Amino acid sequence: MSHLIRVNQAGYAPGLPQRVVVLADGPVRLTDSTGAELRLLEVPALKPDAASGENVSSLELGIAVPGVYHLEAAGEKQTLVVRADPWREVTNALIKGLYFQRCGCGLAAVHAGAYAHPACHTAAAADWENPGVLRRIPGGWHDAGDYGKYTGPGAVAAGHLLYAWKLFAPGCSDELNIPESGSGVPDILNEARFELEWLLQMQRADGAFHHKLTKARFAPFIMPEDDTAPEYLMPVSHCATAAASACLALAARIYREFDGPFSARMLESALRGWDWLQGHPEFVPFRNPEGVSTGWYGDRSDGDERFWAACELFSATGEGRFRQAAEELYASGRNLTSFGWADVSGMGALCCLFDLEEKAGDILYDRLKADFLVQCREALRLSRESGYGTALAPEHYGWGSILPILSNAMALIMSSLLTGEEVPRDAALLQWHYALGMNALDKCFVTGFGENRVLFPHHRPSGADGVAEPVPGLISGGPNKNFPYASTREKLGGDVPPARYYLDETPSADTNEVAVYWNSPAVFVGAYFNMLTRAASGNR
Ligand SMILES: [Zn+2]
Repeated sequence: MSHLIRVNQAGYAPGLPQRVVVLADGPVRLTDSTGAELRLLEVPALKPDAASGENVSSLELGIAVPGVYHLEAAGEKQTLVVRADPWREVTNALIKGLYFQRCGCGLAAVHAGAYAHPACHTAAAADWENPGVLRRIPGGWHDAGDYGKYTGPGAVAAGHLLYAWKLFAPGCSDELNIPESGSGVPDILNEARFELEWLLQMQRADGAFHHKLTKARFAPFIMPEDDTAPEYLMPVSHCATAAASACLALAARIYREFDGPFSARMLESALRGWDWLQGHPEFVPFRNPEGVSTGWYGDRSDGDERFWAACELFSATGEGRFRQAAEELYASGRNLTSFGWADVSGMGALCCLFDLEEKAGDILYDRLKADFLVQCREALRLSRESGYGTALAPEHYGWGSILPILSNAMALIMSSLLTGEEVPRDAALLQWHYALGMNALDKCFVTGFGENRVLFPHHRPSGADGVAEPVPGLISGGPNKNFPYASTREKLGGDVPPARYYLDETPSADTNEVAVYWNSPAVFVGAYFNMLTRAASGNR
């Protein structure tokens, strides 16, 4: 049963907008935890929301005093919490969700609780193209609901964490009870390093990076340690090589203060990746080899990955050849508000606008900043047109709709940081509210959180571990009307509106899978709002 009032189920912060969405006419009664009426709120006229098919309105609560509150409308009561630091736990859980994806090692009960399991995928993998060549490549995160490990998506996910730490350290530097906790390095960087160490091993001797390390086909719903079918190092690809080079050049700068040799190793690897790309200018799209049906992660171009790599390498080395390459790649046009694995141009924008800054020069700073701010207007427009403030057009609810929504949140945050304006910040907050329950499904999309929570994500360990609650801290891809499975269409039919095209059912990878590169933009957004709320409450 969904409520007539939709709220951020993780809570609201005093001092930041507190938007709720209402589906009922008439006044809403705001009461405190004792039931005493504080205010009667007039609801602006309900209007149709195209994505959900609902008539909705929204209210700004403006509650200054932390506490538990109730909203009552049409005889129904919704509870919400206002507190000083409402998103610390969920942001920490989203980072720790990546720990639960670790491969090649066991998860000990002291860190993983009921979700502990023995080491998985520790056998040597055969090179698909040279089956006689065996390499043992432990580590990395399981990509999503499956046990594959994919270079490009992993590099982007690690990149999101690194920028979250670089820009919003006070919002994402808590200890997370992972094996490296207490090492003197923030746990978000300890966790990212687990992926970076694996990425380094995915490089071939000539500098190219293998596209992925997976089985020939997806495992059934078994625990990772029981998934013992042979693993293969799949062929190299342009996109994987450029994305890995970009991520490693970024990481080389971030880890320099913590571990010089590790930093140097990453920069050297990034440079060798770049050299391979220079020697192989012609883009060749990756295709699954005959007999392989694990994730494809195909791409139409490597221009955006090369652009990101050139920006990060320019920042890491200061060499003009990288700036020149980045400028040339920029000239062909970039979607600067895209931060997903398919289009990483936004990652290059992050580097230019918040790392290089004026050092980037006229094109990569001044012009790029102007272009970026123009592109951000689209995210703002989408948010304004939605009854929920969700920055996604009704016709774009596809597989992993959470990604464009969080990408737009990232862009809006950057826009607010660049201009000092609160309007884009507040629109970004609506995307965070969406993820945590203020949506047409009345669903908090992060496992382990919210009154109406995701219980059956498409995630093999959650399905196979015998624990009732799914592994916590994983964000679901959410509604997908554009590419649903036939089984989903059979259950939902064609009339359910896009923002409600969702099944909280384990087989529904199309609407309820999880992925490391959906967690990571949520970490970026959560870390930013954590930083704001902690600054406001004087609480680090
Ligand atoms: Zn594994």
